[in-house]
Amino acid sequence: MAEQEGITVKKSENFSEWYTQVVQKAELGDIRYGVKGFLVHLPWAVKIMKRMYKFIEKELEKHGHEPFLFPSVIPEVFLKKEKEHAEFIADVFWVTEGGAEYKKLEERLALRPTSETIIYPMFSLWIRSWRDLPLKTYQSCQVWRYESVTRPFIRGREFYWIEAHNAFATKDGAKKQVEEDVKITEETLYKKFCIPFLFFKRPEHDKFKGAVATFAADALMPDGRVIQLPSTHFLGQNFSKAFNVGFVDKDKKKKYVWSTCYGPAIWRILGAIIAIHGDDKGAILPPAISPLHVIIVPIYYSTAQFIRIMRKAKAILENLEKNKIRVKIDDRKEYTPGWKFNYWELKGVPLRIEIGPKDIQLEQVVLVRRDTGRKIVVKERGLPKMIKRKLRSIQQSLIERAEKFLKEHTFEVFDFEQLKEILERRGGIVKTEWCGKIECAQAIKEKTNGGAIRGTLFGVEEKPKRKCVYCGKVAKQVVQVAKQY
Ligand SMILES: [Zn+2]
Repeated sequence: MAEQEGITVKKSENFSEWYTQVVQKAELGDIRYGVKGFLVHLPWAVKIMKRMYKFIEKELEKHGHEPFLFPSVIPEVFLKKEKEHAEFIADVFWVTEGGAEYKKLEERLALRPTSETIIYPMFSLWIRSWRDLPLKTYQSCQVWRYESVTRPFIRGREFYWIEAHNAFATKDGAKKQVEEDVKITEETLYKKFCIPFLFFKRPEHDKFKGAVATFAADALMPDGRVIQLPSTHFLGQNFSKAFNVGFVDKDKKKKYVWSTCYGPAIWRILGAIIAIHGDDKGAILPPAISPLHVIIVPIYYSTAQFIRIMRKAKAILENLEKNKIRVKIDDRKEYTPGWKFNYWELKGVPLRIEIGPKDIQLEQVVLVRRDTGRKIVVKERGLPKMIKRKLRSIQQSLIERAEKFLKEHTFEVFDFEQLKEILERRGGIVKTEWCGKIECAQAIKEKTNGGAIRGTLFGVEEKPKRKCVYCGKVAKQVVQVAKQY
């Protein structure tokens, strides 16, 4: 794996090929296993994903969610219980046989595409009274969907996520959960992963199967298309009625619970992190989730120098570790310092320390930022403090860069030809007005080659003042349109 070379295309010129090369050359995923849509996850990606999981799990638990692990298979009869959710049947893999004799199972089992229909039968056993509510659960797992087009970390037949499922005594309790999910998304996606997003209420025709209302975060990818990141669904009483999840309320009456679910897809978020922050040299990882904050590269010309420099490098490593900085020395003798610089730049480690013979004498090191490439000389004494400051600065500048890009690609037009031109030429997110009819949404999508109505901004009251951008009739909603992944 070490024989790789750098990225051979420019991100701005061929984003798609750039992305594929980063996934492979930064050693995130290996697509050669050969089953469509199933990825081998390499250590660098696994370590990043573990950190991402931790941030979101911690945030969920802080808000009262408890971890569970539910089975991965769903009997067909469960999957079909909620009328609209049953449409998932078109997207699932089935387990139909078992054993060496290929014995047919009595009932075919779906590999979970999402776990509502696994969790609600259990909720119906666990929830008895208002005292059992709210019940807030989550599980960190993979799910499987029979996708036709697949892409590592963006759309897979197997992908990793967290799904939170919650039951409440009141409608209001469930609605508040949606607001809490938006906050959790801010705390993690924005603050830790440096991804700015817009949170939408999706239009009726783009809801989750079985939801009363769907809300979702859209982030903007470098090619001007949006990618849906965490989504959260207000399920009303659709699932509680289908699975008979009832409780006796304080007034002694039997009622159905109100429920919600929230699905931050670790996998897709990682895809967005790679795509949004990376540059022509490879990935750039936000310090919060990078497996390493600092890579130390010794620079030497003789064995005597190597021994001295390694002694110094180890002392620095210990000092940094004491200060909770994630650090490693690349002491491989078979590679040149230049090769190592490229290697760790490709992987996106936020900071590099170079130590050469002269630096030892002067009790200093050279510190290089991955995001800007800027080099500074730092005295050994102040090193941990300086590194912490630089990590904060990198985290901040990644957010700012991504926000600037989002801002530059956000438009407001009320003329269909202009809308079309923006989506075709530049991409981005276009604010406009819409009559609410699905026919217009479909026509817009067709004539702009994929521009989809993403919905109305969550928590923002905007009254339409003009006409539907497509049909010219009275507009009912201020919406945003974008091409999507
Ligand atoms: Zn219209």
